[in-house]
Amino acid sequence: MAQSMLPPAMYSHAKMRRRPPSRRRLQIFAADPGASNRLETAFINKTVIDIPWEGDGSGKNGLLPGPVGEYVEVIDVDPASAMAYPPIDLDDPFLLAECGLTPSEGDPQFHQQMVYVVSMKTIEAFESALGRLALWSTKRPEREELNRSNGKREKKYNETYVPRLRIYPHALRQANAYYSPDKIALLFGYFPELRPSNGDAEKLGGIVFTCLSHDIVAHETTHALLDGLHRRYQEASNVDVLAFHEAFADIVAMFQHFTFSDLLRFHIAKTRGDLQTGGFMTDLAQQFGQALNRSRALRSAIGLDPTTTNYATTTEPHERGSILVAAVFSAFLKIYQRRTADLLRIATGGSGVLQPGHIHPDLVERLAREATKAAKHVLEICIRALDYCPPVDITFADYLRALITADSDLVGVDRFGYRVAFLESFGAYDIYPEDVRTLSVESLRWTRPQSRMAKLAPYLRNDVNHVRGKPTEMFDWKRQHIRSKAFETGKRNAWLLHEWLADPKNMTPKMAREFGLNRQDDGDLTGFRLDRGGRPVFEVHSVRPAHRVAPDADIKRDIVAVITQRRQVLLDEKDPKGEKFWFRGGCTLIIDPDNDDEPIRYIVSKDVMSKERLKSQREFLTTSAGLSLRALYFGADSLSALKEPFALLHIAD
Ligand SMILES: [Zn+2]
Repeated sequence: MAQSMLPPAMYSHAKMRRRPPSRRRLQIFAADPGASNRLETAFINKTVIDIPWEGDGSGKNGLLPGPVGEYVEVIDVDPASAMAYPPIDLDDPFLLAECGLTPSEGDPQFHQQMVYVVSMKTIEAFESALGRLALWSTKRPEREELNRSNGKREKKYNETYVPRLRIYPHALRQANAYYSPDKIALLFGYFPELRPSNGDAEKLGGIVFTCLSHDIVAHETTHALLDGLHRRYQEASNVDVLAFHEAFADIVAMFQHFTFSDLLRFHIAKTRGDLQTGGFMTDLAQQFGQALNRSRALRSAIGLDPTTTNYATTTEPHERGSILVAAVFSAFLKIYQRRTADLLRIATGGSGVLQPGHIHPDLVERLAREATKAAKHVLEICIRALDYCPPVDITFADYLRALITADSDLVGVDRFGYRVAFLESFGAYDIYPEDVRTLSVESLRWTRPQSRMAKLAPYLRNDVNHVRGKPTEMFDWKRQHIRSKAFETGKRNAWLLHEWLADPKNMTPKMAREFGLNRQDDGDLTGFRLDRGGRPVFEVHSVRPAHRVAPDADIKRDIVAVITQRRQVLLDEKDPKGEKFWFRGGCTLIIDPDNDDEPIRYIVSKDVMSKERLKSQREFLTTSAGLSLRALYFGADSLSALKEPFALLHIAD
């Protein structure tokens, strides 16, 4: 006889305590709120997505009203109307039972929920692709310090940890939303729709809240995450840099969209599986664009014809960025087509040509599954590639090489041709490195460096725990589970690596050249700050672990170190009294600490001494594109512009 009852003692409260769930399910608008007002999309616009659960259920540690969690802090004050909206408590049992508040344009608390969910989803995508905890950029309060070697007082920055990104859902009463690197915050605006026209329901002139657009929230969160990884990508040192920031933020928003299965099934049924038809899934920030009376969505990823697009002459960051988005989307389409070719053959008796009319719901389901999988992979590759990018002065071609290398590292056999798809698609838009003779996956992959630095591996593994004869703390590059600790160990590791590399016995001046650095103690060292040994100083910006999970469930461990150096140069060589700027170089190192022969797997460098790069940077800074960007950032009466670069890039005009 089955025993259905346990002895009463087993029901004691202590034994019944449950562990917190791993996921929290919450409702959001899948597209923009406007889509709810159109009959055909009204039913799929509200969706439930899940994000990591925060908190231990005790009510003390975890998600506080705001929401305020480990990563973000939603602050809902509205300066324009001098209002502060009460913060939502997502641990309220009624809300827990109903997957949070139902999407609603009129409820500020739903707005708080929306920005929390979408930002957390975006953060999770980064953490799983990079294999480590996400950290925001730091605050760098300035202080003065005496440089003993030259007796001068110099400005120094002390990096402080920023635990949470602040999110203001109703910060501005204007058609804008941006990431502020100065405040480490996201500011979302709201504004009235411009002109009612065509009798279209969504154009009846309401208020547009940028915080209710999944794409805008994901885009801005991505800016913040990218800034946490590559601080120098805010500096327009060539025409690609800012365009890259914009494009990358759009790429993440777009591919994250493909994880909404209801929306995707709807779209696949409607377009009969042809994602090239675009529309809903790829038009970023629909309502935002339409409210500004543009006929098309704000930025559309596809429909950019490679034959009429001119990468060479397009300089405005959004326009140039959309070329990169289009190239990545085109690679995704090739991958999707390859993944679904067999399904279409099966469904069509071998011809691969669909009959007119609706496609079978089973086929919709299978195509949606493949599209989601391909999108997830492409998003992962795109994020992972950030670890393979140079620390300064990135170009789209560098990014292509990073994509190819990142994917080859993790996935040995490229069954569905992902890497070739990237190569071909970038090539079609004329994005390729000029210094590579033949375009192939092998030629584009970053190569192993000449410098072996075999002693580095034991040093990183802590066999050598002495720096300059003094004992040091342990080098700790394990995966951390507490963010503040990850930040602290990262900082200490950066110092330890710096001390090791600063010793010319470990990194000879000749090796330093391969790192893109200058560590000579003679010759022309104009514009460099020198250390006590008379060598130009350099900075180890970060040392981070990467634990990446390959499709075969293998975990690959690497250390990613970012090293930079700068020198002050004249804007115009012939004008010694003229304006100067910081010319930067350095490298990203990918290190395998378990390899005793060749621990350094790649050096992705930008030479601080490169005459060619200096020449093109000077040209760029004095050409119209560079000048307008310089005016944008460094305009005479816009000190605030310097602090809010993304605000100016995003403002709608
Ligand atoms: Zn942006």
